[in-house]
Amino acid sequence: LTMASVRVAVRVRPLNKRGKTFSFDFSYDSTDRGSPIFASQERIFHDLGSDVLKAAFDGFNACMFAYGQTGSGKSYTMMGDTVSKALSDFSALSKSDAVSFRTEVSYLEIYNERVQDLLNKRTTATDGGCLRVREHPRDGPYVENLSKHLIYNHRDMEDLIILGNANRTTASTGMNDLSSRSHAILTISFTQVKCSAKNLNWSKYSFKVKIHLVDLAGSERADATRTTGTRLKEGANINKSLVTLGSVISALADLGVGGQSTNKKKQIFIPYRDSVLTWLLKDSLGGNSMTTMIATVSPADVNYGETLSTLRYASRAKNIVNSPTVNEDGSV
Ligand code: ADP
Ligand code: MG
Repeated sequence: LTMASVRVAVRVRPLNKRGKTFSFDFSYDSTDRGSPIFASQERIFHDLGSDVLKAAFDGFNACMFAYGQTGSGKSYTMMGDTVSKALSDFSALSKSDAVSFRTEVSYLEIYNERVQDLLNKRTTATDGGCLRVREHPRDGPYVENLSKHLIYNHRDMEDLIILGNANRTTASTGMNDLSSRSHAILTISFTQVKCSAKNLNWSKYSFKVKIHLVDLAGSERADATRTTGTRLKEGANINKSLVTLGSVISALADLGVGGQSTNKKKQIFIPYRDSVLTWLLKDSLGGNSMTTMIATVSPADVNYGETLSTLRYASRAKNIVNSPTVNEDGSV
């Protein structure tokens, strides 16, 4: 009598015929580290992050979003070492023709349509320590009293990200998975003073730009029908920013598809003011910014529905046409 253990095999079937086709500017496969097409954090930064930096150095605002269901890799992509890499390049690039420059960082969270400072414990700790969103006549919407932190190097930046992430986590203790319901925005404000010769005179010009790195709430929160019971209030509010983001993207996409027809532009209303998120990111959405959206998806087939809806959302965003302009502040 011979002993034989049960043989076990796993076979993965091919994708079925309902597979949909989408086209994007970039697509990355990060499922298998050993695969020749594996996309690393370095690759993502090289393709997407370095353009953001270049834009900032050229005087353009820039914005990078991560959109996708909870667990699909938004935070890993936006707030992981991609950002710190971006910053090490920041200091390398700064050896350019700028006379002087200054970099400040702020980090906030939008939860239940309320803004909290992730880098100022005093406002984070106090219950209801939320900040007001106001509008500057020239610079647009901003958060009043949001702390800004001057940074000198890559390490300073990293420390602030760690502090902010810790505050985000601390605040979530006792609350069910807050990060899936909140939006985090890391803003880098960068001011450069440059010399240039105009009309045979040398003068100094300043360029002020903002880079927003946005880690959105889980895309599953965009669908009101999935939020029930005790979570209703929180869910409803989270939905407000994500749902409004969806409406803003749709409206802007329609504009983009409609081309530059001024008539059409006047007819389409963009509901920026309907949520804190869209209001704060007004310029990054169809405005004066070079914007990149990274849709993160899970390869698991239980997530098929969410993946499809994420890809549809991202596909719509591709139709948005921004109009970035150089942010020259004039002579200083
Ligand atoms: P989200 O912010 O979308 O909820 P996370 O970024 O927290 O998702 O990712 C969920 C988990 O998967 C984390 O443990 C994260 O480290 C891991 N992860 C996500 N994307 C990748 C990736 N491209 N490579 C390796 N690990 C990843
Ligand atoms: Mg996250």
